[in-house]
Order: sequence, then C-alpha cells, then structure tokens
Amino acid sequence: MFQDITTLLLDPKAFKDTIDLFVERYKGKNISVVAGVEARGFIFGPPIALAIGAKFVPLRKPRKLPGQVISEEYILEYGRDCLEMHVGAVEPGERALVVDDLIATGGTLCAAMNLLECVGAEVVECACLIELPELKGRGRLKGKPLYVLVEYQ
Ligand code: IMP
Repeated sequence: MFQDITTLLLDPKAFKDTIDLFVERYKGKNISVVAGVEARGFIFGPPIALAIGAKFVPLRKPRKLPGQVISEEYILEYGRDCLEMHVGAVEPGERALVVDDLIATGGTLCAAMNLLECVGAEVVECACLIELPELKGRGRLKGKPLYVLVEYQ
C-alpha cells in the first residue's frame, strides 16, 4: 500500500507543523547541509534547510543534474536505482542531515549517506515523515540515527 504525503501538503497548518517539528529538532545543531532525496525529499528538505540556515543539496536520479556528479547505485525490491550528487556541493567535514518522505528497506537513505560520506561529510542523522518498521530499514543506516514522525505497521 502506497503511503501518500500529498494530502498533508493540502493542509497548510499540518504542513507547517511538520516542518516545525524537524526545525525544532535540528536548529542550533551546527548542520550546514540538508540533503534531500528526489523526489519527495525536495518538498520537505528546503524549508528545513532555510529555517536552520543550512544549504540544500539535491540528491537526484541519474542524468538530471547538469554538472559533474558522483553516483551511488543501490538495490530496490525489483531492480536497481542510482542517486547522484554534484561534485563540490558538499565540503569535507560538513555536518549533514538527510531528508526523505519515507523509509522502507533503507536502501535509498543508505545510498544517500554513502554519497555524503564519500566526499568527507559527516551524516548527523536521517529524517523522514514515515517509517515502515516491518521492513527494518533503520538497520541499514550504518549505525546513524533515524528520526521519524510516524510509523505504519
Ligand atoms: P527504501 O529505499 O526501500 O527505503 O524506499 C524508500 C524510497 O522509496 C523513498 O525515496 C520513498 O519516497 C519511496 N517509497 C517507497 N515506498 C513508498 C510509499 O509507500 N510511499 C511513498 N514513498 C515510498
């Protein structure tokens, strides 16, 4: 069953409250990068980045970013996918937060973390609105913390 966050976006108060929960958690934590996973990480990542004074870095599907990229392949339930990040977008030693709408198997967030760590950034935490705990994705996050607002069994 597909968990759909678009209904949340129709309710400005609920959308703002959601962003505020993340901002409350991450402000003052010296995070300089919010990395959002295409596509729904692009909805939640930028307002969080703006509110905490961090830059927003899009992690995109292959051949979408115009500049030089580094790539990370990952396994999906059926097949493979890949995320890309612009070279030079993140500097070594930067503290990064990874944002997506939902964690299922954790493969997507793991690939996102690998991209950031590959350029020497420190991933502080991953943040999602929704976790599907039965799929145990949390266990694939290389020991890094995951913060979620809602769990669906
Ligand atoms: P994972 O790599 O298995 O953790 O899958 C997470 C990725 O797939 C995220 O980028 C989600 O946006 C997307 N995804 C998987 N299932 C759903 C769903 O039920 N609703 C929304 N997105 C989903």
